[in-house]
Amino acid sequence: MQNVWIDPSDRPALPDVFTEHPHIPLAALPTPLATLPGLTQHLGGPELIVKRDDMTGLATGGNKTRKLEFLLGHALHNDFDTLITAGGPQSNHCRQTAAAAAQAKLECHLVLGGEAPEKPLGNLLLDELLGAHLHWVASESRHARMQQLCEELQDQGRRPLVIPIGGSNAIGGLGYAAAMFELVQQLERAERTVDHIVFATSSGGTHAGMLAGAALAGFTGTLHGISIDQVPDAQVPNDQRDMRFAASVSKIASGTRELLRQPYHFSGDDVVMHYEYLGDGYGVMGSAERNAIHLLARTDGLLVGPVYTGRAMAGLIDLIERDVFSSKESVLFWHTGDDTTLHAYSDDFTTAT
Ligand SMILES: *Cc1c(COP(=O)(O)O)cnc(C)c1O
Repeated sequence: MQNVWIDPSDRPALPDVFTEHPHIPLAALPTPLATLPGLTQHLGGPELIVKRDDMTGLATGGNKTRKLEFLLGHALHNDFDTLITAGGPQSNHCRQTAAAAAQAKLECHLVLGGEAPEKPLGNLLLDELLGAHLHWVASESRHARMQQLCEELQDQGRRPLVIPIGGSNAIGGLGYAAAMFELVQQLERAERTVDHIVFATSSGGTHAGMLAGAALAGFTGTLHGISIDQVPDAQVPNDQRDMRFAASVSKIASGTRELLRQPYHFSGDDVVMHYEYLGDGYGVMGSAERNAIHLLARTDGLLVGPVYTGRAMAGLIDLIERDVFSSKESVLFWHTGDDTTLHAYSDDFTTAT
C-alpha cells in the first residue's frame, strides 16, 4: 500500500466523475494559500497571493505530484510494475516520479538528457536516494530511449508504463483540473476572488489541467502561462506542427475534459501564454531569475527556484510593472516548486546582489 496522509479529511470535495479515474493520495491537499504582503507592497500593484504547490509534500513537493496521483492510480489499476519517464538532469518531474514509485513499490527508470555530472546535486542526488535507475542520453534522444527501454524491460518480463515528460497527458491533467476545484473552494471559504493566475509552464499539462477544470469549477479569472522554454506557435514550422505549444496545451485540455465526460474542444486561442521570458534557454539562470529569487526571499521569505518558478516570478513582476493588471485586481502566483534545485545553482548566485 502507498503511504497515506493521516488526516486527509480536508481534501476538497470533487465531482463524482473524478472517482471513475483511479488515483492515490500522494499530495498533502489542500496546499496552503497565502498572501504576499511584502511583494505586493514592494511593487505597489495588485494584491498578490500564492498557492503553495511547492508544498505538496512528495519528496519535498511540486506540481508533478498532483498529476502523479492520477498517473500512479492508472499504473496500479492496470497492473504496471515499472515506470519510465524522462526529463532534464534537474527534473522536478523525475524526482517526484521516483518518490511516487518508491511509495507504490514500482521500479522507476529515469531517462535524463545530458551527461552524468561528477557530483550529483539537487534533484539528481534525490533521484539516486529515491532508488531510481538513471539512463543518460542526448536530450533529443530521450523519447526514443524511453521506447527502447520499454521494450527491453518487456523482454525481461516486466510491465513498464511510459509516462510522458512532465506527466503531461489527459490523465495527468486530471490532477490540475481537480486543483481548480480545490482553489475555488479555498477562495470561497476565505471570501476572496482571484482575477488572474500566473504560473510556469513547460510541458503544458499543468496549464491544460487548469484550463480543463476552470470552467467546471466555476473559476472565471484568466490563466496566464509563463513559457519557460517553448516558443510561440507561429515560430514552429509546418512540418513540426506537433510541437506547437499552445495547440498542444489545448489538445491535452480537451483530452482531460473528455475523461471528465464534459467534452469541450479547446483551441490554441483559449491558451494565454507569455513567451517573453525565455532568457538564455531552459535551465539557464540569468539575472531576471536571480533577481526574482532574491526579491521574494527578502520581501516574503519565500523561495522560488532557478529553472521554473524564478522565471515565472520574473515574468509576473514584469507584467505588473507593465500595468497588465489593474491595481484593483487580485493576482495569484501558483508556486509549482523547484526550490530543491537551488543548491545545484549555487555557483550562479555568488556574484548576485
Ligand atoms: C514541470 C514544472 C513546471 C511546468 O509544468 P508543466 O506541466 O510541465 O507545464 C513548472 N514548475 C515546476 C517547478 C516544474 O517542475
